[in-house]
Amino acid sequence: MKIDYFIKKSQDHGKFTKDELVEMLAYAPDSSESYRIMAEASRISRELTGDKAEVHAQFALNLEPCACNCLFCSFAETNGIFQQKNQISPEEAVRSARQLEEEGANAIFMMTTAQYPFGKFLEMARQVRSSLKSATTLIANVGDQPLMNAVKMKDAGFAGVYHALRLREGMDTALPPEKRRESIRNFQEAGLKVGTCVEPVGPEHVIEEIAEMILYTGSFNPVFSGAARRISIPGTTLAKKGMISELRMAQIVAVTRLAVPRTVLGNCTHEPCTIGAAAGANLFWAEMGANPRDTKAKTETGRGHTISRCRVLFHESGCGVLDGPSRFYAS
Ligand code: SF4
Repeated sequence: MKIDYFIKKSQDHGKFTKDELVEMLAYAPDSSESYRIMAEASRISRELTGDKAEVHAQFALNLEPCACNCLFCSFAETNGIFQQKNQISPEEAVRSARQLEEEGANAIFMMTTAQYPFGKFLEMARQVRSSLKSATTLIANVGDQPLMNAVKMKDAGFAGVYHALRLREGMDTALPPEKRRESIRNFQEAGLKVGTCVEPVGPEHVIEEIAEMILYTGSFNPVFSGAARRISIPGTTLAKKGMISELRMAQIVAVTRLAVPRTVLGNCTHEPCTIGAAAGANLFWAEMGANPRDTKAKTETGRGHTISRCRVLFHESGCGVLDGPSRFYAS
């Protein structure tokens, strides 16, 4: 059976071709082949981390319409979900970060929309950094940056960033794909570790483009890859296309784990779910404040998960969870 070949190739640390990934992604999500891939992905994730999954937690510095107009994002101006412009104060940022630290986040992410003033972002980062324990991992989730800014982010105390070339970048977004790739190179050159993901997957994405994206994420040695489905923002153009199931997302998470080199310890999924963890996801995100997948201004009253909920989901999936600073971003 071809599935035996795929499992064996993964165990031998073989490099998968696009056509092989297409074959694995073409299995029905509920087929025995897909379940075997999920089981193997779970085994790899546990082996690489000593069965210590991680929960990272993100809070947003602002909520405002964004001119980059990524069609899957609730902040996109064109989607008309939010009209207000809110920026949290340095005191609120410090309070949020310390709360997430106390609740046991393995890494804390500071997120902004793409047009948030960079100087202000650095100033907020310095204040947050100095209020946290020195061992706490601080990560940035911001727009594209030149090398000079990436260096300043490193100097401000960030260990790394989250940055992704999104599926259909430049078509479903106003951002040139090359700029996304260039930013990833800039972050890495500045010494910032990069976590990434195959996202946001919708039913319209064909398996060839998903396979290409999996290979791209594995090509630049991120600290984690993984897969996340697109969440429908009610009333938007993309919402009409629907959403993939958690099971299908789990299958893509598993194929990503097999295809990405073993030097990449993390394999994320979003939003958190037990089937994702059972299929080899070892990273979930908790969220606080504004969230690009939510229509509520405070996601803790909407779609956002708490750190404790994420930990419960891992435990329900039979996975252990790391206590202490992220090992992915330290790798
Ligand atoms: S995903 Fe980021 S860049 Fe795109 S619209 Fe939302 S906030 Fe702006």
